[in-house]
Amino acid sequence: MRHRFTAPASQRPKMLIVDDQPINIRILYELFRIDFDVYMAGSGMEAMEKCASLLPDLVLLDVVMPGMDGFEVCRQLKATPSLAAIPVIFITANYDEKEEVNGFLVGAADFIHKPVNAVITRARIHNQLLLKRQADTLRTLALQDGLTGIANRRLFEDSLNAAMLQAIRDQTPLAIALIDVDFFKQYNDHYGHQAGDECLRRIADALDGVLARPYDLMARYGGEEFVALAPGADGSGILLLAQTMVERVRELQIEHQRSSIGGVVTISAGAVSVIPERGVTNAQVMLGAADEQLYLAKSSGRARVCLGIL
Ligand code: GH3
Ligand code: MG
Ligand code: MG
Repeated sequence: MRHRFTAPASQRPKMLIVDDQPINIRILYELFRIDFDVYMAGSGMEAMEKCASLLPDLVLLDVVMPGMDGFEVCRQLKATPSLAAIPVIFITANYDEKEEVNGFLVGAADFIHKPVNAVITRARIHNQLLLKRQADTLRTLALQDGLTGIANRRLFEDSLNAAMLQAIRDQTPLAIALIDVDFFKQYNDHYGHQAGDECLRRIADALDGVLARPYDLMARYGGEEFVALAPGADGSGILLLAQTMVERVRELQIEHQRSSIGGVVTISAGAVSVIPERGVTNAQVMLGAADEQLYLAKSSGRARVCLGIL
C-alpha cells in the first residue's frame, strides 16, 4: 500500500472546528470558509473521529465541552502518532493564565480569545498553517524517494524496526522481499539514463500496487533495488506476494533488447519470513538472509523468487 505522505501544499487546507455551541461554529465558519475547507464537530468524541478520517491541517478547539473536553481531545491527538502533527488552537471565552498553561502542556499550538478579532485570528491561523506545511514538506522529503514517490530506505528501516518489535511482542511472522531489476546496467546503456529512470518509476508503481494491507510498505532501497515489508506474512504469504510482483513487472512489457531472458524488463527477488525472537532476530539478520536469497534467484536464472525461512 502506498505510504500516505501528506497532501501537497497546493491543495486547499482543511480545518476542523470543534465546539458544542453551534453559534460559535457559525462565527468561525464565516471567518474561514473562503480559505479553508471547513468541517465541524459538536463534541470531543466526534472531533477524534473526524481527525482520524479527515486528517485536517488545523483544529480549532473549544476548551469547555460536556463529556470529553478540549484538553482531553488535544492530549489524545498528541498521543496518536498519525495525528500528533495536526496543530491545535484553543478558542476560549476569556484569558485565564492557568487554563492557557494547561493547554500548552497538553500540546496546544496557540490560544485565541473570544470575542474573536478577525484580523488577529486569521493571522495566527495562517502562521500555524505555514508552520504545519513546512513541517509536512520536511517530513515528506525525509521519508519519500524523490524519483519514484514511494517510501525511501530510511522510512523502510524505521518501519522494519517498529514491525520487528511488534512481531516479537505478538510472536507473529514478519516478512520482507528484496527486489533487484535484472540486467539494468544494460538497460541504461542501451536506452539511456532517462529511460532508465522512467522504467524505475513504472516498476515502483507496479510493485506498490501489489501490496494491499495497511501496514505493508514498498520502498526504494537504493539504485535499482526495492524492498517490500509485509508484517504478518508467513513464508507462503511473502512468496505469493513476491511472485505476483515478478509477474506484474513482466506484464508491464517494458522492452529490453539487451536482456538475455525474454526481451522485457524483469526483476528477481529474495524473500524471507520469520517469527522474530528478542536478541536473535534483527533488521540486519533479515536483510542479510533476503540478500542471500536474492543472490540465489540471480544465479539460478533471474526473473524469479527464492524464499528463505529463518
Ligand atoms: P543484475 O541482473 O545482476 O542485477 O545486473 P544489473 O545490471 O541490474 O546490476 P548492476 O548492479 O551491475 O547495475 C545496476 C545499474 O542500475 C547500474 C546503474 O547505472 C543503474 N542505476 C542505479 N540507480 C539508478 C537510477 O536512479 N536511475 C537509473 N536510470 N539507473 C540507475
Ligand atoms: Mg543491484
Ligand atoms: Mg540489477
